[in-house]
Amino acid sequence: MLTKLLELIPEKQERLYQEAAKQAEREWLLRTIIESIRNTLDINEIRQNLVNVVGEKFKADKCFFWDYDNDKKEFIHQIKFDYVTSPDFKKPYTYGKETDDFLIETYRKQRYIYVADFRELANDAGHMGIISRHQIHYHGILTNCCFGIFDGEKFIGAFAVQYKEATSISNEDIEFLKRIVNQTAIALKQAELYSKTKKQAEREQIIREITETALLGLDLKEIQNKLVMKVVQLFKPDKCFIRPFDVVIDAFVPVEEHAQYCSSPDLKKLYHFSEEVEELVKSEYKKGNAFIVPDFEEFFKKPEPFFSIAKRQIEHYGIKANYCFPIIAENKLIGAFVVQFKKATYLEPEDINLLKTVVNQAAISLTQAEQHQKLQKQIKREVFLRKINEAISETLDSDKILNLVCQEMVTFFDTDRVAIGQYNPNEESLKSIKVTEATINPNIPKHNNATLSAKVNEYLSKNLLKKGEDLIINNLEDENIPKFYRNFHKQLGTKSILNVAIKKGKENWGIMALFYNRDFRTWTPDEIDLMHAISEQVFIALRQAELYTQSQEAAILKSEFIANISHEIRTPLNSILGFSQLLNSVEYNQEKHAKYLNNLSTSTNYLLRLVNSILDFSKIESGKMDLFSEKFNSTDIIKETISSIKSMVIQKNITINTELSEIIIEADIMKFKQIILNLLSNAIKYTNENGKITVRTKLKKDNLIVEIEDSGIGIAEEDRDKIFKYFRQIDSSHSRNQEGTGLGLVLVKKLVELHGGIIDFKSKKGKGSTFWFSLPKAKKC
Ligand code: ADP
Repeated sequence: MLTKLLELIPEKQERLYQEAAKQAEREWLLRTIIESIRNTLDINEIRQNLVNVVGEKFKADKCFFWDYDNDKKEFIHQIKFDYVTSPDFKKPYTYGKETDDFLIETYRKQRYIYVADFRELANDAGHMGIISRHQIHYHGILTNCCFGIFDGEKFIGAFAVQYKEATSISNEDIEFLKRIVNQTAIALKQAELYSKTKKQAEREQIIREITETALLGLDLKEIQNKLVMKVVQLFKPDKCFIRPFDVVIDAFVPVEEHAQYCSSPDLKKLYHFSEEVEELVKSEYKKGNAFIVPDFEEFFKKPEPFFSIAKRQIEHYGIKANYCFPIIAENKLIGAFVVQFKKATYLEPEDINLLKTVVNQAAISLTQAEQHQKLQKQIKREVFLRKINEAISETLDSDKILNLVCQEMVTFFDTDRVAIGQYNPNEESLKSIKVTEATINPNIPKHNNATLSAKVNEYLSKNLLKKGEDLIINNLEDENIPKFYRNFHKQLGTKSILNVAIKKGKENWGIMALFYNRDFRTWTPDEIDLMHAISEQVFIALRQAELYTQSQEAAILKSEFIANISHEIRTPLNSILGFSQLLNSVEYNQEKHAKYLNNLSTSTNYLLRLVNSILDFSKIESGKMDLFSEKFNSTDIIKETISSIKSMVIQKNITINTELSEIIIEADIMKFKQIILNLLSNAIKYTNENGKITVRTKLKKDNLIVEIEDSGIGIAEEDRDKIFKYFRQIDSSHSRNQEGTGLGLVLVKKLVELHGGIIDFKSKKGKGSTFWFSLPKAKKC
């Protein structure tokens, strides 16, 4: 008996020893687990560690945390931390509210549920039956030991250890697991508190940084980029960008490179949605509504266009979660802040609030930056205009002005070529314009004053000058632009053009254009506006330069006139003085006496004529010349005038022919005579000896046309403009030989115009001239 008992001792000892060893191992395991749990404050790490250790040590097939969402009152389907022996295991999903509530209630009462074999409960009519059948048939699980995790009284989830085969778990093991779960719950609570505080601190730090960004940086690009990158740092999304909204065109505009982030290059950048979707998005944003979609799959339950948004986001952009917030500044939508994830992502409410703070901050910073940018632009523009103004006021030489303006413009607009072309009012076109150009570098081809084709010329004149519209071409390949114009610019390598008129009211001066060769360029309203401002300044500057040139010319002419007139006065005065002295002092015969007296009278007459011309001229200038009109026979007066200058004609042996029609005219006789006399005297003056003069009259539509044709020296084409100008004598040696004031033709023109007529001439140098004028109110005798 004793021996038997003694024999039993080692057996018992052995068992006790084994139990003690197991106990020791458990204690050791528990300590290790607790240590590993306590060692880290990262919730995720704790959970992952736990499922791994328990899963391995207990040789489980599945071991996982099953979180409960206390807001939605349901288990969270997505299991974040699991340990599985086979990847085929299905994730748990809710049994339905009643069974879920039953589970939670059971955990609340007994803290754990252990089922050694679900098959034993499979026929149960109650909740355990539902659970058992589901576990067996859906998950392929027979044994389950599940522990409720509580935060105080709040159920926050379950920790499960499961087996495919029926497996018995000893009470000690269950107790052991309970202790682990309790410890884990504490550790999780601590870690959560820690991570919350840490997150809070991080958030505050980031908000501070973002605010500082807003206050410090005023560069729009930089701010957009910083805001995006801060959000990326915070939430690690796959895509994050600021989508700008243009208030003027009431639409979203493309996202700028610096304002977007993509976690991988294969993610497509946002282009745009269908019109219907864009409208919906726009109107929701304008109401201040955000688009928060943690999982686009959920959108498939929604009607169009939500459905198509989800489809496009998932299929086209590869995006599953979307957090989009409108950026609203001063009650206006200015953009959208978009944070997206490739995987379904449920952000915590605090995170969403943080995003909202970022977006609000973005609204402030972006408006600030935009205002700053606007101001900067305004300053830049003002500086540029001032520069142009200064450049312009430095000179009154219009060529210099145009060159300066072109040079300044080409750099300011950062464009490839600038051209300013002058309009030719005589031809009513831009055809023979002079072009001033500047290019950004010498490789850019120039127009080089090449003549515009008739079509191009007409196209530009019509649109810019006549219609007064700008010609804004962003894309020269646009089919709506006439082909000849596209081809014309193809040769110059132009891709975009901004063309405005230089004009004031109806007064056209020319055109001014920016050409861009590098790429297609969308000319902004600001640029167009600035072009108008420049064109106005250029117009004023050119007019000033023109007036200055005119006044300079007038000043030169006046002093020339004074010099001439002094000469003209001094010559007869000298002769008067000389002859009157002679008459007084020297002995002379009758014949000489008569000759001297004759000379005296010629000179005095000449002086009188000169003085009268000057008086007439100043009368006309001050508008005090009156007309005394009466009807008379033009032929009579013309013949009378011809005979009054007979002596001049005889001296030079000139023949005067007349081809006169009998025409009655209503005009001022004295002035009519003066006109004829002047033109005749010129004809005689500028015709060599033995020459021929023809005086002709015609009636044309109640107008008397008088032509005085001579076979004289003629007038060169380049002198045409000078003929009817004040004090202008063509400075040829021949005309300087002739006495004259340079006032004759100006007076004649004024007199003709006073009658409502016109005057002009045809001439060829060396071949004679024909001066003609027409007067209204004429009829046949
Ligand atoms: P002037 O008193 O010097 O003749 P006008 O005003 O009469 O001044 O003429 C202006 C200029 O026009 C003259 O100086 C002359 O050069 C030119 N001119 C005028 N008439 C003729 C003509 N019939 N033939 C050639 N040149 C002429």
